[in-house]
Amino acid sequence: MNKITNHLPTAELQALDAAHHMHPFTAGAELAKKGARVITAANGVTLTDSDGNQMLDAMAGLWCVNIGYGRKELANVAAAQMEQLPYYNTFFQTTHVPAIALSAKLAELAPAHINNVFYAGSGSEANDTNIRMVRHYWAAKGKPTKTTIISRKNAYHGSTIGGASLGGMSGMHAQGGLPIPGIAYIDQPNWYAEGGDLSPEDFGLERARQLELKIAELGEDNVAAFIAEPVQGAGGVIVPPATYWPEIQRICDAHDILLIADEVICGFGRTGNWFGSQTYDIRPDIMTIAKGLSSGYAPIGGSLISDEIADVVNNAGDFNHGYTYNGHPVSAAVALENLRILQEEKIIETACETTMPYLAEKWHALADHPLIGETNIVGMMGSIVMTPDKSARAPFKSDAGTVGFICREFCFENGLVMRHVGDRMIISPPLVLTTSDVDVLIERAVKSLDQTLAKATAD
Ligand code: PMP
Repeated sequence: MNKITNHLPTAELQALDAAHHMHPFTAGAELAKKGARVITAANGVTLTDSDGNQMLDAMAGLWCVNIGYGRKELANVAAAQMEQLPYYNTFFQTTHVPAIALSAKLAELAPAHINNVFYAGSGSEANDTNIRMVRHYWAAKGKPTKTTIISRKNAYHGSTIGGASLGGMSGMHAQGGLPIPGIAYIDQPNWYAEGGDLSPEDFGLERARQLELKIAELGEDNVAAFIAEPVQGAGGVIVPPATYWPEIQRICDAHDILLIADEVICGFGRTGNWFGSQTYDIRPDIMTIAKGLSSGYAPIGGSLISDEIADVVNNAGDFNHGYTYNGHPVSAAVALENLRILQEEKIIETACETTMPYLAEKWHALADHPLIGETNIVGMMGSIVMTPDKSARAPFKSDAGTVGFICREFCFENGLVMRHVGDRMIISPPLVLTTSDVDVLIERAVKSLDQTLAKATAD
């Protein structure tokens, strides 16, 4: 076989891909017919494909490349760490310097009561850890019946059996015998789609109070934790009403329920603070982290654990749980360098002062487009909702998502990576996006929306 490199013609790469590579969240046979887009390089906020087309990546990969592409420092740190110590584990009473240094750094960045980290290879694995950790914690405290974890419909917490069960995605639960027992769900705080005649504020309270009702139904002695993303990401960048989180916090405190903030997307600057929990004034017991932790340059995730939980778990004998790649030295070294760059270059502060307000202004102005029923943005994650009838907040009748899919394809053609979730178009760009990048993003988005409108009304 010829050596497979960037220099092969696109059609040849696509044929090989179709023959041997199964893609996540993809209908394989359908993709094989049209051929996958082949990305060959990236720099800053720009991707290049195998035909030389350039695209502004308004999704930062999968919400993860917070510092942007092409930072040589991370490549150099990875190479140096591979030479020094490419692998060693942290089982058997052993540790290594990258894990020590990254843990200390995370303790410094996390809220004051959180000074401990249990590593994983991904966000999904970290959420699996959380399921076992909170149950083990309550058992060690003499409350072994506190096992049920309450989550939300349309939440995303990963694709492992545990992570996908914690998540509330009906399409995922429909495959492979999910969810596992011991997970309960309340409704999401999606005012646009589900708020009816309530004001956003009343709706936020109503949805938060579902948690209290669920705890009462299950019995407080049977509930271990509530898990939620500060802002739902994969569900469609659903920004909760301002009343939601304070009420959730009150309920968790009142009923002795642990609060797990899944910061896999919201962490590391995405919402304008180091963590989404700070943006929403949440006091979590555990925070799930991944993605922006290494800006996606190396796979790594983890659970940031409060001192109270760590103290109980550390004094309860062996915690019989762990992954070969817990605190992987190369990933940990890359993550540490990524955090250094985020911090020393003041990337989050700069984004807060410049690009975020500019993007918010331009993003909200999209509400004037005839197709757009609602705009949402927090820091650098945003959504626009397409509708055939603005005043009724109506969804498109046919398959929800068809219009979104059409719009996404126009975006690609126009050199913009935006993702769609149903009729929602979403962005989560690198935090190094500049104001002139915003102009390009908006111009391409508007062009794509115009084309989508023309197509939707022609059909
Ligand atoms: N939690 C949240 C909130 C996520 O958005 C994701 C990934 N999109 C995960 C968990 C799972 O992370 P991973 O894909 O790294 O397993």
